[in-house]
Amino acid sequence: METSIYAAREMQLLRYGENIVQNNFLRSDLVRASQLLSSEKIIIQVYLSDGRIIYPTYDQKYSSKLSEEDLTKIGDGDNLGLRFSQRFLDPDTQLQMATVYIPLSENQVAGFPRGFISLGAPLEDLEDQVSAMQQSVFLSFFLAGIIGSIVSVLFALYQTRKIKHLQRASQEIAQGHYDVQVNTSGSDEFSELAQDFQKMADSLVSYEAEIKRQETLRRQFMMDAAHEMRTPLTTMSGLLEGLVHDMIPENQKERSLELIQKETQRLTRLVNENLDYEKIRNRQIVLKKQSLDAGELFEQIQTQLGSKASEKSDEIIAEIDGRVSIWADPDRMVQILINLVTNAIQFSDNGKIWLRARDLGDWTEIQVADQGIGIDKDQIQSIWERFYKVDVSRKNTKFGESGIGLAVVKSLVEAHNGTIDVESESGKGSVFIIRLPKES
Ligand code: ADP
Repeated sequence: METSIYAAREMQLLRYGENIVQNNFLRSDLVRASQLLSSEKIIIQVYLSDGRIIYPTYDQKYSSKLSEEDLTKIGDGDNLGLRFSQRFLDPDTQLQMATVYIPLSENQVAGFPRGFISLGAPLEDLEDQVSAMQQSVFLSFFLAGIIGSIVSVLFALYQTRKIKHLQRASQEIAQGHYDVQVNTSGSDEFSELAQDFQKMADSLVSYEAEIKRQETLRRQFMMDAAHEMRTPLTTMSGLLEGLVHDMIPENQKERSLELIQKETQRLTRLVNENLDYEKIRNRQIVLKKQSLDAGELFEQIQTQLGSKASEKSDEIIAEIDGRVSIWADPDRMVQILINLVTNAIQFSDNGKIWLRARDLGDWTEIQVADQGIGIDKDQIQSIWERFYKVDVSRKNTKFGESGIGLAVVKSLVEAHNGTIDVESESGKGSVFIIRLPKES
């Protein structure tokens, strides 16, 4: 900074000097310039080339006091930058001066012989400027320091508040209250941390909800399973008690044993279906997929379920669009269709049941459609759940109404990487639509 103040003063003096020299001045011009610049405490002097002074006094005993080297330099026509010297204003007062020197050529200066001109200003002024500048710099640093400290303290308080907020939130979470809201505004690291924290808290809330849902499902499953087992067990227990205490007439004993056998089979089927469902869900079954002919498959279903259908005056019709092949495990495909057609028979009387197949390019579509009682719109989503029955009071156990059938069907279709949907209208009938990918 000091250097630049000195350099600025040097430039200023040189510029003044060059202006004076460039104007083809006479002694009177010089006097005017001296008077003008005296307001800025600038002193103009003119020297002969050997350094003797010829203006403002023509007193040969004063000289420029420049070194030989400087005199040679200026003799060669170069400007001399700031030189520092002492000047006696009177015998008691001496002044430190900063002076620049500019060469004069004879033809340039009408009233003077060849030499050089000097412009000097008291060093005091420059030093004052430097110290004023230093003071203002110190003041600026001081103020900046104070403002910086205040800002830092405020910022630290703001951040501390955020941390405290996070701390409180984590304590809440530690106590099991996951439903917390933290302030995530801002874009600094703490805000990012708060955003991550909020995400974590939100995940915990949804995990908690999922755990509760699973727990409800588990309880529901236990209740449903117990409920499903209670009916056959009650029947069997009553009959067995009657037999043990010989309370059943001889002619009904055989019928009772048949009933016990039927209920035992029902329980076994229930347990097996559940085990099967768990195995399919956990992908513990191995699918032996092969290309199946839809026609042959549907024929097999018609043969197996024909008599059941006739019992309810239903008719099973196969409708195939050309020759369609299905890429599936034969046993599991039969299981899927038996389940769907059994339901269709169960919920239709005196109706038609269609088994359809068509080729969709990369997929094969299989439909099981009936003209039965249909399913209400608000129940359609639930039919895939285990133990779900639209009408819980149904007593008909002829075809195994455990409510597991469709859950098993869905898992089996998904194990084949396929999809299953249902379109149904209450009172009009239902269509179950399966889409299975072709062999890839
Ligand atoms: P269930 O062993 O009781 O038949 P499912 O899982 O096979 O159990 O079916 C669940 C419920 O979906 C049934 O109880 C029934 O209410 C409804 N459902 C299934 N198929 C049909 C259908 N073809 N027509 C009408 N309702 C059906």
